[in-house]
Amino acid sequence: MNANDLLSIVHDFESPIYVYDSEKIVSQYKRLTNAFKKVKQLRIHYAVKALSNISILKLLHAQGSAMDTVSIQEVMLALKAGVPADQIIFTPNGVSMKEIEHAMELGVQINIDNLSVLEQFGTKHPNTPVCIRINPHVMAGGNTNISVGHIDSKFGISIHQMPLLLRIVENTGMHINGIHMHTGSDILDVGVFLYAAEILFEQAKHFDRLEFIDFGSGFKVPYKEGDIETDIEELEEQLGERFNDFCASYGRDLTLAFEPGKFLVSEAGYFLTKVNVVKQTTSTVFAQVDSGFNHLIRPMLYGSQHEIENISNPSGKKRFYSVVGYICETDTFANNRMITEINEGDILAFRNAGAYCFSMASNYNSRYRPAEVLWHEGKAYLIRKREQFSDLIAHQVELDFAEASLKPA
Ligand SMILES: *Cc1c(COP(=O)(O)O)cnc(C)c1O
Repeated sequence: MNANDLLSIVHDFESPIYVYDSEKIVSQYKRLTNAFKKVKQLRIHYAVKALSNISILKLLHAQGSAMDTVSIQEVMLALKAGVPADQIIFTPNGVSMKEIEHAMELGVQINIDNLSVLEQFGTKHPNTPVCIRINPHVMAGGNTNISVGHIDSKFGISIHQMPLLLRIVENTGMHINGIHMHTGSDILDVGVFLYAAEILFEQAKHFDRLEFIDFGSGFKVPYKEGDIETDIEELEEQLGERFNDFCASYGRDLTLAFEPGKFLVSEAGYFLTKVNVVKQTTSTVFAQVDSGFNHLIRPMLYGSQHEIENISNPSGKKRFYSVVGYICETDTFANNRMITEINEGDILAFRNAGAYCFSMASNYNSRYRPAEVLWHEGKAYLIRKREQFSDLIAHQVELDFAEASLKPA
């Protein structure tokens, strides 16, 4: 899709708006599955939390994708999208036993990431197959908020607690059918991934009823030209063969699973905003758009740098701008960026807006969350309506202070 397609979408559906290019999502999915062709059984679980619109889930499921979920609501969404329960893995962190049992009743694959729940679950449901999430303590990822492998991370069962884990499995007689890791986001180095994978292979030998090994995700995608991305093809070259060798020594073909979120949807997304005000101060030129961190929090939350283009004036002279929002709190999208000359009313397109953008949007400042559009085979399809005032107050309960019972005594 090109800038004119994006402009026509703003014309038809207004701004701010999220747009996703289905072709890019499908091509990323195929890139991953093609790379791992040599692995006999491959399963891609799309990480629903990255972008959870039901039409996106359906699009990915139509390509053959399974789903990775982290809440019971995501499980329900995936089921609603028509994904069979046995193609959904539930990988929560710190949720109640009740929520895990609910997922079990719905028939999804349970993944347990702490010893306390493992023991409770194994005691009550020894025959339900369970996957265990291991923390191999391999540091990966650029930002401490999204890197989950470090020693004081809350994720997974520490590799150092394996003896305890094995004792629980033995005492309860529970059925471990999968072993999992997810070392964090933005893995730059395939070597780090492989190192963690070796730790997983080593631990996998303790379990004789495994059906799959899930290597999680954390694949890095480029944000601008020249950015390093995870080299999927190189990863396959090294991990694919190693996995096949492991299966041979294990004595059975296992399924190799991944759980990409960002890799599948990040680059497919555009966030389109309109410039309300161009404000010149003594030091800076601000372009203030009709949005804020209520709609796209990543730059403020973990410093992510989304490329921003002025698609209304693509050949204008480049100048420095700070792109900010309308929230009554600092909401800087970009600091002193070179962007082609911006006039009030221009449309700015934010790139890499597919993953963790709409799914983290809120109603802060009592603003409506944006609409979402899927660009599919040359046509724009509205896949989420823009909110309106009735949505803002739908669940609020209004008290009437004129009523006798609420009047001060
Ligand atoms: C968030 C998450 C993912 C997806 O990570 P990306 O960096 O978006 O690919 C995969 N698995 C689990 C368990 C997660 O929590």
